Amino acid sequence: RLEGCPLLEEGLWLLSEEEAHHLMTVRHSREGSFVEGLLPGRIVLTRLERRGEKWAVRFVEELSASDEGPEIVLLAGLLKGDSFDLLLRQVTEIGVSRIVPLCCDHSVVRLDDGKAEKKLARWRKIVQEESKQCRSSTIPLLDRPCSVEQALTLDLPSSRFVAAIDASAPPLASLDVPSSLVLAVGPEGDWSAGEESCLRGASFLPVYLGHRILRAFTAAAVVSSWAVQGWLG
Ligand code: SAM
Repeated sequence: RLEGCPLLEEGLWLLSEEEAHHLMTVRHSREGSFVEGLLPGRIVLTRLERRGEKWAVRFVEELSASDEGPEIVLLAGLLKGDSFDLLLRQVTEIGVSRIVPLCCDHSVVRLDDGKAEKKLARWRKIVQEESKQCRSSTIPLLDRPCSVEQALTLDLPSSRFVAAIDASAPPLASLDVPSSLVLAVGPEGDWSAGEESCLRGASFLPVYLGHRILRAFTAAAVVSSWAVQGWLG
């Protein structure tokens, strides 16, 4: 990932120790090896050069960025333990554009300000790693955790869906997929009645994912994947 790497001259990026270590020891690259570089919205072919004790990559040519996709904003209830990390990894891989962690009425996790900062730094690292892993040139935006009410004051796409355990709600497969949308998935303890009515009042259409109650991170992956597949299809 070249974003943030200092430019020594036009088209020559100095690699961080971490990136250089990854290339030399994990990817077995050597001086002169061709490596792909990820920039926001771009993938470039570069060649590895030694610069004293350090390593740099020189631009060779532009490659096509093939990871275009729909605009997917995911409002996701905070989860305990490593479950939220897993949710972040999966939805980043699938291709969401923005994730808004929600402190819900029934969330088991409570974040005070100190904890929220530490978590946010860790989550940012996770989405960066995961974007790199799946060769995406874009990293999803990650908001600070907020309540459902606060999330509804954000500038959100007008096509809105909330995963609701409600067999009378339409199944996902019956709906058309817009190219810009917001999806909401609740925490382990589900939405409170107040949150559900807030979401419905803000034009979120309830959608049903089947007769099984899915883990929240699975539900997030299912709805995100629906949006990407629909956009591709
Ligand atoms: N106890 C499980 C856990 O630990 O993750 C279940 C959590 S479920 C209550 C969390 C959220 O996933 C719900 O608020 C809802 O948004 C979504 N969800 C799960 N199963 C669903 C289904 N069959 N239909 C629609 N939404 C579902």
